[in-house]
Amino acid sequence: MHSVMSIRSLLPAALMSLAACASAQAQGGSPEAKQFVTTDAPVIALTHVRVIDGTGAPSVPNQTVLIERGIIRAVGDSARVVIPAGTQVLDLTGRSVLPGLVMMHEHMFYPSGRGSIYNEQGFSFPRLYLAGGVTTARTGGNMAGYADLELKRAIDEGRAVGPALDVTAPYLNGPGLPVYQVHALTGAADAREMVAHWADRGATSFKAYMQIRRAELRSALKEAHRRGLKVTGHLCSVTFREAAAMGIDNLEHGLVVASDFVKDKAPDACPAGGVTASIAALDVSGAPVQALIRELVARKVALTSTLTVFETFTPGRPLAPIGAIDAMLPEARDQYTRRHAAIAAQAGSPWAALFPKEMQFELDFFRAGGLLLAGTDPTGYGGVVAGYSNHRELELLVEAGLTPLEAIKVGTLNGAQYLGRAARIGSIAVGKRADLMIVRGDPSVRIADITQVETVFKDGVGYDSAQLFASVKGTVGLH
Ligand SMILES: [Zn+2]
Repeated sequence: MHSVMSIRSLLPAALMSLAACASAQAQGGSPEAKQFVTTDAPVIALTHVRVIDGTGAPSVPNQTVLIERGIIRAVGDSARVVIPAGTQVLDLTGRSVLPGLVMMHEHMFYPSGRGSIYNEQGFSFPRLYLAGGVTTARTGGNMAGYADLELKRAIDEGRAVGPALDVTAPYLNGPGLPVYQVHALTGAADAREMVAHWADRGATSFKAYMQIRRAELRSALKEAHRRGLKVTGHLCSVTFREAAAMGIDNLEHGLVVASDFVKDKAPDACPAGGVTASIAALDVSGAPVQALIRELVARKVALTSTLTVFETFTPGRPLAPIGAIDAMLPEARDQYTRRHAAIAAQAGSPWAALFPKEMQFELDFFRAGGLLLAGTDPTGYGGVVAGYSNHRELELLVEAGLTPLEAIKVGTLNGAQYLGRAARIGSIAVGKRADLMIVRGDPSVRIADITQVETVFKDGVGYDSAQLFASVKGTVGLH
C-alpha cells in the first residue's frame, strides 16, 4: 500500500516538471493537441507579414518574425532578418500577426437552463477561446469549484487544448444570490478562509460579487494582497468608491453596475433595480461620473470592459455570428434566438440608453489614463460564445471610440500588464513567448479583420483555428 501511495504522489510532480520544462512540446505533442497542430517545428519564420505588436504602435508591413523553441528571437524587415538553415518558413503575404489575446473576463460556463444552474463548458470553451486567438484568459469567476483548476492543469500538461488560464476562485459573495453554485459568505472570517483555501490550491485571482459586504471584501483583499494576489469585483452592495478606497485592484463591467449613484443607498445592500434607474438618469460627461473616473484612475483600479454581454440585452443589436450560433446545442440556440427576438421587439428597454453610456464611460476612463481591460463574460441569456465573442469585444471597443490599435492593445498588452506578465506575453517583442494570432487582412485599420483568424500560436506551436472551431460544433451549452 505504501509503495502504491508513493508512486501516486510522484506522478503529479513528474507531470508538473514535464509541463514546466517542455510545456510547448507537452501541449503540442499530445494526441489531443496534435489533431489541431499545423506547425510545431523548433524554428519557424513568419515572413512578409504585417506586425501589429500590441503596444499601440503603428503596424509595420513586410516583416519577419523568427520563433525558436517557443520564444520570439527576431522581428524585422523581411529583407534583413537572417533565417537559419532548417527553419520552417511560412510566407504570410496578405496576413497580419498580432499578440495572442489576453482576455480578462472569461468563463468556462454558459447559461444552459433556467437561470440558477450554469453548465461547465470544459470541452468546448477552451478550444473556442484558442480558436479565436486567446492565448491567455483570466476566468472572471468560477461556478464549478475545482473544475477550472483541473482544466488549467490539463491544458498545461497537453491533455486538453486551450489558452493559459489564470484561474479565479469560486465567487466571494454575501447572501441573497439565487444561484446554488455560489457560496454565501457568513462574514469577514469566512471571506479570509475562502481566499486562503483557494489560493493554497492554485487560484491566482479572486472575484468579489454583487452581495458581498464591506467587512468581507476588506478581509478578502487583505488575505489576497498578503499573498501577492489580485481581487476584482462585480459589485453592487459595495460601491465603486468604497471598493477603490479599500484597495480593490479591478472592477468588472463598468458604469452600468455601479451603485454609487443610487440615492440613499443603504450600506452593504444591493439595490438591484435601483442601479439601472440611477444610471439611466446619469450624464456620463457630468461632474459626478467624471469625478469617479478620476478617482479610479488615481487609485490605479483597472476596469474590465464586457460590452459583449451588454450588447445582448440591447434592442437593435445584431445576432451572434453564424459560427457562434452553429456552435450551440440546438436547445441553447433556441433559447438564445427566441430571447434575442423578444429583446429586438421590446419598447422602452433601459439598455437603449445604458449601452451607449457604458461605451462612453469606458472611452473616458481610457482617455483619462485608466488601465482598461477586455473581457467578454459569456453569461446573460447566451449568445456570448467564447472565441467569437473575443473578436466582438474588440469591435465594440472601436465602436465606443478607441482606434483599432488602441482596442488591440486593450485586448493584449493591457491584460498582460494587469496580470504582471508583460515581460513574457502581451506584445510582439524579442524574448517574449510566441503567443501569436495570424489573421487575413489588416485589423489595425479594419478591426473586423480580427475575425479572420487562420493560425494561433501558443508557446510557438501553431494551431488551426478553423479546425478548432469546427471540432465543437453543436456542443456549447452541453459541455
Ligand atoms: Zn462574469
